[in-house]
Amino acid sequence: MILETFPVGPLQCNCTLMGDEEAGEAIVIDPGDEVGRIHRRLAEHNLKLKQILVTHAHIDHVGGALKLKRLTGAPIFLNENDLPLLDMMASQAAWLGIPTPETAPPDERLTDGQSVGLDHYPAQVLHTPGHTQGSVCLHFVPLKMVIAGDTLFAGSIGRTDLPGGNFEQIIDSIETRLLALPDETKVLPGHGPATTIGYERKKNPFLRTQ
Ligand SMILES: [Zn+2]
Repeated sequence: MILETFPVGPLQCNCTLMGDEEAGEAIVIDPGDEVGRIHRRLAEHNLKLKQILVTHAHIDHVGGALKLKRLTGAPIFLNENDLPLLDMMASQAAWLGIPTPETAPPDERLTDGQSVGLDHYPAQVLHTPGHTQGSVCLHFVPLKMVIAGDTLFAGSIGRTDLPGGNFEQIIDSIETRLLALPDETKVLPGHGPATTIGYERKKNPFLRTQ
């Protein structure tokens, strides 16, 4: 298996490329920017892109999705509750002072419980609203790994002061969906370093449930 996570764009969103060398297929999660670099990695590994999975429709996570789709033909997956944020791309770009990327409605809706990803490395979609209404996490069950978007960070949680954000809801999503996963589950957040469910259960100051 090929698993590469690298920060892209001015906000350094963690983009993940997962590939199955035997099948010659890959998925890309959160291609927020630097699409040329992502596309080059796919070519270097000789992988055909099967799915573009977007954890939520903030510009730093979705900004390069349409460009990557045009280069590869792969469909874009996004939860429908984030469609209003897609329509706000110009204001999102204005907040950051960067050009507005072209976007398009997703080809597929990511829904809770759905199975996505590669045949050998499937992921279960966990709808975890709070950072945005359409935020999802991707639980790669056999790999004991979760891609957390901006829901859970090492030692922190996603901000809830942007449109669609809700503090009680993100805490509830983390406690009922993510903390339900085994302690050894590796967490790849949307920004910053990796962590584990067990570490965050014990140490994350926002999650003091006991
Ligand atoms: Zn975000």
